[in-house]
Amino acid sequence: MNPEPTPAGQPDVLVVGGGIGGLSTAYALSRQGLRVRVLEQAPEYGEVGAGLQIAPNCTRILADYGLLDEAKSLGVVPANMVMRDAVDSEVLTRLDLRDLERRYGFPYMVIHRSDLHGIFLRACERAGVELLNDQVVVGYENTEGGARVLLKDGRTETAPLVVAADGLHSVARQQLIGDDVVSSSYVAYRAAVPIEEVKDNGIAEHDVTVYVGPHRHFVQYALRGGEMFNQVAVFESPKALAGEADWGTPDELDAAFEGSCETVGVGIPLMWRDRWWRMFDRDPIETWVHGRIALLGDAAHPPLQYMAQGAIMAIEDGWVLAQHYARLVEATPAGTEPDWDGALAAYEAVRVEHCRRVQTTARAWGELWHLDGEARLRRNAILRARDTHDYAFTDWVYGPTALTPDEEPAMFTPIPLSSAAVEQPAA
Ligand SMILES: Cc1cc2nc3c(=O)[nH]c(=O)nc-3n(C[C@H](O)[C@H](O)[C@H](O)COP(=O)(O)OP(=O)(O)OC[C@H]3O[C@@H](n4cnc5c(N)ncnc54)[C@H](O)[C@@H]3O)c2cc1C
Repeated sequence: MNPEPTPAGQPDVLVVGGGIGGLSTAYALSRQGLRVRVLEQAPEYGEVGAGLQIAPNCTRILADYGLLDEAKSLGVVPANMVMRDAVDSEVLTRLDLRDLERRYGFPYMVIHRSDLHGIFLRACERAGVELLNDQVVVGYENTEGGARVLLKDGRTETAPLVVAADGLHSVARQQLIGDDVVSSSYVAYRAAVPIEEVKDNGIAEHDVTVYVGPHRHFVQYALRGGEMFNQVAVFESPKALAGEADWGTPDELDAAFEGSCETVGVGIPLMWRDRWWRMFDRDPIETWVHGRIALLGDAAHPPLQYMAQGAIMAIEDGWVLAQHYARLVEATPAGTEPDWDGALAAYEAVRVEHCRRVQTTARAWGELWHLDGEARLRRNAILRARDTHDYAFTDWVYGPTALTPDEEPAMFTPIPLSSAAVEQPAA
């Protein structure tokens, strides 16, 4: 695919960061025949955390990569997503995930974070991606016809394209944009336990259940073929609001969930207490590409997690970038090196607005979930009135539109996904 090989030892693309965004992008680009090197700061490739929800806008890409069956064998395809009130446990609204699958052509799944990461890691290994560890990148600069990264040990690496997939606290973002992360004052606790431990807790084994309550919410679903049960407890930290440095501690967790319904109440003691995740995002930005340095995943658009789209957006980014590179190669006369600039322009044109919308909607969603008092009751009334088969709020996220721009110049015409059937819901 690359008609003019880069000098020996130099890859076609350097990807900084071996998280889900970096690995999925490395895999997508390697499928286009590119030689990809991943620079990961950690001594080993891996993921910390518990479950991830992956919606049809992700599973359609896994299907395109030939990885969906592996994901299904490791994850769970739940029956429903049910939203309940965290105080009185009343059902507020529901998505029928089997009907949703019919509508979007691909399943809504849940999977252990390390399993999804492992799928991409193995795919990269099979594809010959060079996976390096202990590579701490501390600086970036554009060069003639490419870009260079500076490593902590003083070495440099150069390639025609550098993709910075280095996460929420991205060094590249700091250097190129210089903005700060935004604290939500909310913190997440996680737990994944053997399902036997929770069978008598009033859980719905076959559903994703989200309990929304005043200044807190609680998520439950089964993982690993139903053998494990994942729980996420999220709450607003009074200490964070008071400006204290030591916020989100386990005493705050217990206090935040007092007065919750029984199922939530019995779930809280199971949460891991040695680690918690303070919730940050960033304000959306419009420029992700600086010369031959491209921000991707959380480095470009870290959301609050309320739409469960952060990892998915990172996977979409890599897919879109690779597709536009492929188009560029097709349009490039034989014997000429494809010019990355066109593919990078298309990448930005396709992705920026969609990811901005996810980031801002996730913030609004969080506010809606965490309402208190009269506003909570009004929200509940509106959610109860929603038709189960009303997809007005999911079409723009779960449909294939995130992969194509709203208004497209000729070079950005939509790329058809092999079997993306968008059907009307069953009667
Ligand atoms: C509680 C919670 C629940 C979530 N649930 C979901 C969900 O259900 N669905 C979903 O899609 N998303 C979810 N997300 C969001 C998702 O986890 C992130 O958006 C996603 O992991 C981002 O992937 P990434 O590869 O861009 O960044 P990261 O996962 O942060 O990976 C960045 C990688 O870069 C490496 N790195 C960083 N700096 C350097 C450096 N200087 N040099 C070299 N390497 C570096 C890091 O070690 C890491 O491996 C959730 C997030 C949270 C907090």
